[in-house]
Amino acid sequence: MARRFFVAGNWKMNNTIEQSVNLVNSLQKEMRDMHKVDIMVAPPFTAIKSVYDALSSSSIQVGAQDVFWEESGAYTGEVSPMMLKDAGCKWAIIGHSERRQYFGETDDTVNRKMKAALAAGLKAIVCVGETLEERDAGKAFDVLDRQVAGALAGLGKEDMDKIVIAYEPVWAIGTGRNATPQQADEAHAKIRARVGELFGSKTPETMRVLYGGSMKPANALELLKCENVDGGLIGGASLKTAEFAAIIRAAIEAS
Ligand code: PEP
Repeated sequence: MARRFFVAGNWKMNNTIEQSVNLVNSLQKEMRDMHKVDIMVAPPFTAIKSVYDALSSSSIQVGAQDVFWEESGAYTGEVSPMMLKDAGCKWAIIGHSERRQYFGETDDTVNRKMKAALAAGLKAIVCVGETLEERDAGKAFDVLDRQVAGALAGLGKEDMDKIVIAYEPVWAIGTGRNATPQQADEAHAKIRARVGELFGSKTPETMRVLYGGSMKPANALELLKCENVDGGLIGGASLKTAEFAAIIRAAIEAS
């Protein structure tokens, strides 16, 4: 079954409001003919509303890099799903490995965030992926099984069309080292199979699985041509218009 490609940019902790608006303005100029794929950018919280406004006549969607699970209250520093929607977000990235690594995110907190985001009407890109140590120990697929089941626990089949899974091997994020197409395809097939076990065999046919981990113009096409790869979650290369646009073009070519 054909799945529409999805290219998402995770800007991480980069860009002031002015830089963010300049970046999406230049992206819009580059991407006039790029309607064949879904595109999303996730600026830092401070720039979300300005980026949303700058994209008012564009099909590029806006997402957040994280979200909290409570609706409001005494949770200093946190941002609720409703606040993100209010600022223009359609998406939230949840469970990025940097959040798991540096900020104590667990399968349980990822799951709470997933439930809260979906309940508020956001869509979610949930990130899973093994460390190098886990891969070398032959445990990569066990980690994916655990993280996928943990993130999706308690969700229903009907939620799954609002969820995209990003396979992001931790050893490939920001390192310049990417998974080979074969490694990516195998991992994506494994994720799809796990989702099939949890929600029945139809769900993985339509669910998109993105690859993330040093995707660049030079390696995008071969990764995106893999049967089980439906797009990319792009960090570093999404900060440069020409590179992000080249990856989107690769997605159009692969679709
Ligand atoms: C990411 O942060 O999701 C990511 C994939 O980063 P990079 O493309 O820089 O490896």
